Amino acid sequence: HKPAVSVLGLGAMGTALAEALLAAGHPTTVWNRTPARTDPLVAKGAARAADVGEAVSASRLVLVCLLDHPSVHSALDPAADRLRGRALVNLTSGTPAQAEELATWASCHGADFLDGGIMAVPPMIGKPGAFVLYSGSRDAFDAYRGTLDVLADSRYLGTEPGRAALYDTALLSGMYGMFMGILHALALVTADGTAAGEFAPMLREWLDAMSGFATSAAEQIDRADYALGVVSSLAMQATGFDEFLDVARERGVSPELLAPLGPLLRRRVADGHGHEDITGVIELLRTGSAG
Ligand code: NDP
Repeated sequence: HKPAVSVLGLGAMGTALAEALLAAGHPTTVWNRTPARTDPLVAKGAARAADVGEAVSASRLVLVCLLDHPSVHSALDPAADRLRGRALVNLTSGTPAQAEELATWASCHGADFLDGGIMAVPPMIGKPGAFVLYSGSRDAFDAYRGTLDVLADSRYLGTEPGRAALYDTALLSGMYGMFMGILHALALVTADGTAAGEFAPMLREWLDAMSGFATSAAEQIDRADYALGVVSSLAMQATGFDEFLDVARERGVSPELLAPLGPLLRRRVADGHGHEDITGVIELLRTGSAG
């Protein structure tokens, strides 16, 4: 038989997690602060817990997916004495420091702790393409991997509890950089009267072609050689970049999403790195000297 699971938190994501577990045949107990949100899941076969303590006691695997770190404590603290011997998997987004705090708290109460970062939106749960980052207790991961794989592809990042949150933040930061670029690009062309939908396929094609930058930049960074295989020099890119800002202004588009990169490019050129690749900007970020 399949392991029993308790799911605490039935927002958009917690509901998707519980639905996937039910669909895969796991005995599933659900709890939510606002009890009415348990109804649709109970109709699909979930057991309703009257309170958090009952939910924690019902299964050896306890998944928590609440709004934020304070909500995890406000929900779980009253049931802390029920955690002993259980695996607590926190799928609530948070910082690495918050994950470390929860790991210490869980171990004080005798629970194995895993922190998770969900790299999916709710409709992707249980479908190919979704993955979840985990860090913390290897025993808990090994024991419940088969169950966690029902939710999404599981990626274990080691015993440091904060690592999943760090990688999650890094991935989302990369995503927001892309969102910023896409929004700026669409603002430019729509200011000219082009429909966004007309331009979008070309934008995707270009971004796909450029996504290899993650790999080439990583090689330059790991070798601390920003001139390695350079095809577009920083000096050239810095010159062109100023023109991008001019074009935005000429078209009545605010350059504010794009503008912050300009001073970093100019500083690297001024420091004598114009012949290198743009990757060397990381030096300004890592030292914190970029302000
Ligand atoms: P929702 O806003 O849909 O749900 C929030 C949940 O938290 C509800 O169950 C709510 O209960 C509960 N809650 C809030 N405050 C408290 C509290 N003080 N005590 C107890 N319960 C509380 O959020 P999502 O389900 O979308 O997100 C949940 C987590 O998953 C977040 O950390 C989010 O970052 C993460 N996540 C979400 C993704 C998404 O696309 N949705 C993607 C990846 C991660 P109530 O019903 O009573 O209000």
